[in-house]
Amino acid sequence: HRVAFETQPSYSFNPGGKIPLGLKRKGLRIVVTGGAGFVGSHLVDRLIKRGDSVIVVDNFFTGRKENVMHHFGNPRFELIRHDVVEPLLLEVDQIYHLACPASPVHYKFNPCVVWHKTNVVGTLNMLGLAKRVGARFLLTSTSEVYGDPLQHPQVETYWGNVNPIGVRSCYDEGKRTAETLTMDYHRGAGVEVRIARIFNTYGPRMCIDDGRVVSNFVAQALRKEPLTVYGDGKQTRSFQYVSDLVEGLIRLMEGEHVGPFNLGNPGEFTMLELAKVVQETIDPNARIEFRPNTEDDPHKRKPDITRAKEMLGWEPKVALRQGLPLMVKDFRTRVFGDQKEASS
Ligand code: NAD
Ligand code: UDP
Ligand code: UDP
Repeated sequence: HRVAFETQPSYSFNPGGKIPLGLKRKGLRIVVTGGAGFVGSHLVDRLIKRGDSVIVVDNFFTGRKENVMHHFGNPRFELIRHDVVEPLLLEVDQIYHLACPASPVHYKFNPCVVWHKTNVVGTLNMLGLAKRVGARFLLTSTSEVYGDPLQHPQVETYWGNVNPIGVRSCYDEGKRTAETLTMDYHRGAGVEVRIARIFNTYGPRMCIDDGRVVSNFVAQALRKEPLTVYGDGKQTRSFQYVSDLVEGLIRLMEGEHVGPFNLGNPGEFTMLELAKVVQETIDPNARIEFRPNTEDDPHKRKPDITRAKEMLGWEPKVALRQGLPLMVKDFRTRVFGDQKEASS
């Protein structure tokens, strides 16, 4: 096995990341796996800004160096190209474990190997690392663990309705296994863990062509292509702006509760309503085209965030109509930048 060694000593080694009361907080050493991705790169920005040292571990499967390039040259930032499926030796205080190709296009293309290896072996390795150095470990799980839910909105105590042999099951079941591993390391090895169940999130730096609905609609409207609504468009999702998620993840990591916690925006939209918001934001004349829906598509999804409100003092602040223009600004630059590159 190839192992990446971190040679510098940990100057602020602080098992579990606990800050003794009354002491001024020193910068922590934090690993963010998947830190070159959409959510990870926004999390890294926040951690660097508050004075921590951050090591991003990413194999660039769906992430991009451009997302973190603005930290190059900062001595508190380090980027390691590494696949979490391989063991990794580092000395750190906290591990945010985000590595996992999140986009449906990628998981339908090559589901089993990539998904299971990353979710199962990758999570096992990061838990092994957390156990060895006494670091606190946060898993970014997903609302997909509820499957096509029979309970609405979804509360953390709901066990879900997942098809174990369906086309989406590599993702659902992969994350469910990751949650199980996380709790087993917590109970069996005393690792301090946190579990976030993230609901659909959007914002700048999302992959442009990853097939998720918000990125598809925004890119299509900008390119003057029809918005592709799958099925009858009456299925619902609840869309969270990325800065709200990052705030929730940090509160969860720093707080005293294991979770799982739903992190999502309870504002619920049908895909037709979402298409309308995109039309209002980008192009009122954008056309809508209906396409067949994918198998096992959850009919509705909306988080119950009572637990996060009460135990983390967290709730989302950015409504879809406020957040979408911020994403559109970023997509505009990237979509038209791409076209310039393509024509040159
Ligand atoms: P993303 O694809 O932008 O980021 C994932 C990152 O992990 C990428 O940079 C990718 O290169 C990296 N990665 C993938 N496999 C890896 C491996 N084996 N080793 C090292 N790095 C690897 O996705 P995102 O939206 O930023 O998602 C981040 C996390 O949040 C994921 O765990 C995802 O399951 C979870 N999540 C996201 C959403 C959402 O709506 N964005 C919803 C639910 C859960
Ligand atoms: N691991 C790692 N980095 C570490 C410690 C462990 O990548 O610093 C990996 C290790 O290779 C193993 C996994 O984490 O595959 C689980 O480790 P653990 O110690 O729990 O299990 P064991 O090695 O005893 O099977
Ligand atoms: N969807 C759609 N048009 C698209 C992409 C997706 O109507 O171009 C629908 C999809 O069928 C699903 C919803 O949007 O009902 C959310 O899909 P996404 O892949 O973004 O997230 P997830 O299904 O993982 O919640």
